[in-house]
Amino acid sequence: MHRAPTSFVRSRYHRPRTAAITLASGLAMFAAASASAQSAPTKPPPVIDIHVHTFGGGPGLPPMCPFPPQFLASDPKTKEGTIGWSDQNCVLPLKGAATPDDYMKEVLADYERLNVTAVVMGDEASVNKWKAAAPNRIIKGTSFTNAPGAGKYESLEKLRAAYTTGGFKVMGEIGLQYEGISPSDTSVDRYFALAEELDIPVGIHMGTGGSGRANIGSPKFRGSMGNPLLLEDLLARHPKLRVWVMHAGYPMIDNMLTLLQANSHVYVDVAGLIWSYPRKEVDSYIQRLVEAGFEDRVMFGTDQLVWPKLMELSIEVIDRASYLTPQQKRDILYNNAARFLRLDKSTTTSSNGTAGK
Ligand SMILES: [Zn+2]
Repeated sequence: MHRAPTSFVRSRYHRPRTAAITLASGLAMFAAASASAQSAPTKPPPVIDIHVHTFGGGPGLPPMCPFPPQFLASDPKTKEGTIGWSDQNCVLPLKGAATPDDYMKEVLADYERLNVTAVVMGDEASVNKWKAAAPNRIIKGTSFTNAPGAGKYESLEKLRAAYTTGGFKVMGEIGLQYEGISPSDTSVDRYFALAEELDIPVGIHMGTGGSGRANIGSPKFRGSMGNPLLLEDLLARHPKLRVWVMHAGYPMIDNMLTLLQANSHVYVDVAGLIWSYPRKEVDSYIQRLVEAGFEDRVMFGTDQLVWPKLMELSIEVIDRASYLTPQQKRDILYNNAARFLRLDKSTTTSSNGTAGK
């Protein structure tokens, strides 16, 4: 059973204790101090969300219940749902934003409140809009597969310009699995060669896809193309490439651990995985990664798409994890991504965003 997301706010907020006040300072001062203590809660410790999309919202999006308890069978004789997550009732279903603008505003407001810096990915124009709206909170990402499954790639020249003069710092999300293509396929090698040459970290979708992805929504999607070990040839060709496996290759944990052992540059994120599977399964997957010894390569992410409140809920999964020490929680929520992204040390202790220019 999953926990209803009702109380996830509390542990992230610490109201400052009212300072000791001498009697001489009088009641007026006491009242003022109390008022400001109540109106200005301290910021929670910084968080990096390494996996956010600009897709946005739209009218009529159904609410989403995180941590679906099961994935129901469908019957090809009947009209099948667009996504195989089972209908379920939960206490607080997450509402999709009504428009892409609303989505951006709501998400950015949460970044301020929850002290989040995010790698935001999408086409260049949409990412630039987010960056302009919150310069210190956004690290810009774009990819050659900005529309996963569409099979149309951005030109190499356009991407080179984005990374050299356009302020883009990350290549992602690379959605080759939705095309049924291995990341080691030589037909896309030029993009990885560019990332290696320019020292740009790359995020590759591996694993998750929702239930019935191949037979309902994305006919070219192949579960087998999410096998983390498919990265081995790519990594051998590009030894300096900084790769993170998005969704931690879920559910191929053994292959994921094998890759992490063989390649010490590789990191993972827990985006998507962290809210779209049964709760116990989410915890046990993250726990396995950490207990296998890779706690310094697990990075927090949401895969934020249309539901603004996903951020708070996802942070809470880490914050409340009984199997993680306080240091491991900080590493997953912030330190590992700061190291992987090589964020400037002088800014990484800031409580006001860490993205810089
Ligand atoms: Zn993905």
